[in-house]
Amino acid sequence: MQESTISQQIQGAGTHADAHTGIATHCPYCALQCGIHLRGSQANVVIAGNRDFPVNKGGLCIKGWTAGGTLAHPERLLTPLARDASGTLVPVTWDEAISRIVHAFQHIQASYGRDAVGVFGGGALTNEKAYLLGKFARVALRTANIDYNGRFCMSSAAAAALKAFGIDRGLPFPLEAIAQTGVILLVGSNSAETMPPMMQYIEAQRARGGQLLVVDPRSSVTARAATLHLKLIPGTDAALANGLLHILIRDRLIDRAYIRARTEDFEKARSLAATYWPERVERLTGVAEAQLVQAAHMLGTASTAMILTARGVEQQSQGVNNTLAFINLALALGLVGRPASGYGCLTGQGNGQGGREHGQKADQLPGYRKIDDPDARQYIAGVWGVPEHELPGPGKSAYEMLDRAGQEDGIRALLVVGSNLAVSMPRSLHIRERLKALDLLVVADFFLSETAQLADIVLPVTQWAEEEGTMTNLEGRVIARKRAFDPPPGVRSDIDLLCALAERLGESQHFSYSHNEEIFEELCRASAGGTADYAGISYARIEAEQGVFWPCPSADHPGTPRLFQERFYTPTGKARFHAVRHQAPAEVVDSTYPLYLTTGRVLAHYQSGTQTRRIARLNEVAPEPLAALHPVVAQHYGLSDGDAVKLTTRRGTATFTARVTAEMREDTIFVPFHWGGQQAVNILTNPALDPISRMPEFKVCAVRIEAVLINPVLTNKEG
Ligand code: SF4
Repeated sequence: MQESTISQQIQGAGTHADAHTGIATHCPYCALQCGIHLRGSQANVVIAGNRDFPVNKGGLCIKGWTAGGTLAHPERLLTPLARDASGTLVPVTWDEAISRIVHAFQHIQASYGRDAVGVFGGGALTNEKAYLLGKFARVALRTANIDYNGRFCMSSAAAAALKAFGIDRGLPFPLEAIAQTGVILLVGSNSAETMPPMMQYIEAQRARGGQLLVVDPRSSVTARAATLHLKLIPGTDAALANGLLHILIRDRLIDRAYIRARTEDFEKARSLAATYWPERVERLTGVAEAQLVQAAHMLGTASTAMILTARGVEQQSQGVNNTLAFINLALALGLVGRPASGYGCLTGQGNGQGGREHGQKADQLPGYRKIDDPDARQYIAGVWGVPEHELPGPGKSAYEMLDRAGQEDGIRALLVVGSNLAVSMPRSLHIRERLKALDLLVVADFFLSETAQLADIVLPVTQWAEEEGTMTNLEGRVIARKRAFDPPPGVRSDIDLLCALAERLGESQHFSYSHNEEIFEELCRASAGGTADYAGISYARIEAEQGVFWPCPSADHPGTPRLFQERFYTPTGKARFHAVRHQAPAEVVDSTYPLYLTTGRVLAHYQSGTQTRRIARLNEVAPEPLAALHPVVAQHYGLSDGDAVKLTTRRGTATFTARVTAEMREDTIFVPFHWGGQQAVNILTNPALDPISRMPEFKVCAVRIEAVLINPVLTNKEG
């Protein structure tokens, strides 16, 4: 069963267990970071929603209730593995594994240069780990090549927010504000499935008479709950936003006083929007002019309103422009920085926010500092106690680093921490080949993920309930992850691993910490004065205050739940409009590939599924990826619900089970991306990158479809 109704989702946001005692910590999965209480043992974990935590107020989704199932899972890795002479992964000691890694790193760097060793992090790592991983790359390895899977998740929204507001914090207000607003425009998000407890705020907003507008190519569970659903053609988001702005200006529904007082460059956006008249936008987007006018008027006449964007808008080769177009809309309506109003981006991964602030991005140092900024380099070099000139410069973005891996001009070794890039990267068969071409692939994980299966050395690391640290949720609230259980023997934390590697690389003086809080304190010092300033945050404050919102520059600063009330973080203090044109996706449909393919999530699984696909209850709910297609498409190709259907793009072919549903547009197929192997939809997706964020175009490519009469098989164009 993959389908569920909105009411089921919202009921699902209730608490699961009757006991509300135990260790107060957080769900390991998405950016909502729901508060939970943990009891029992690793083998018998009892999880209940924490009613006192102000984000989820006790609500959890099915992933949260079942999160304990990974801890004592029989497939858990409990010893390091390394390839023997026959190429088989066999158990080795930690000492041997570390020695082999360090020897290989040193040899490769001596032969090919420092940048020949790459590091790949993740948006689920704690702040401490993300910070230490960046420091490890720059100080212990002195490589420029570090990036992380947040490049595939948040980079377009982050780049747009920096351009428009001078700061990137997903939601610049607490979630509670959603319940207070009059009209919500939700763009490219299926929140009812991806973060069900958030729906309680939208339900409260609706109960107060509020309205929900959803922009999505699918009639998703969330879209079906909307007052108005704009079912656009994939890849036309900027055109739609420009069209709405055109109507708002034409019908005198913009806030001119706000625009004058708090923004700049409106004229540029206005003159471009003038060319997006409704008839043209209807042609481009497939959304009827009457619906465009209705949506614009709902927004323009509301006393409070909110625009929220997510991956649907961002995971495109025009992701930054798309996001800027919706920010333009929020600025023209005078929403940003006002009570119960605003613009926000719904972060996806558990620490998607903190993970992009503290230095695991290719172009970034802690505190959201730019690695090519001389002052930032000087400051961070001082915190780390190294000469500034030894810090490397910007490295390659995630796809670009992996695209050349194992080639003459690419990395020759890679350390992967907290990421399953063999599943999560676009054009994934090509990426698998590149991973195989490396001289050394090291993967730290707690299961033998699809990426770990390709590794030369696999290191078993701790899970969420066995470690402490901090996470930063989608609101910018820094919260505490607690250790409830001792890790199994043989398992070490990522932090232990990095410190051990650094020691063997001769850098122990920079990586000696007696406990995690010491790393957090160093992170806070490193962030001081930066855009993401944590200087005033401490473990004690997080505990006492149910989390602390950054920026928090000093111990006596209250933190900043609401941004932009007085000014923006640009040099002038004003928000910036941007003139952004609609540009077609990198692939448009044609006679060979006549349909659009889009991808996304389902309720029961998280990211590449390394954890959730190992939970029996979640597999019952969603055992395989289904290709959702419209009945008209099904009829055209002679397909029925449950038939095998072969999808082919310019990257390859994969076969799925068809789900025939009127929720789809007649020109679009949807497949969720949580599965690897022969049913990985990322075999098909397009790695065309946004020119600014370097985000791949997961959300739209051209596909052709064929009915097949055999069990799912895979063919690979790229070998
Ligand atoms: S997956 Fe997200 S929405 Fe579900 S319980 Fe965990 S944090 Fe909450």
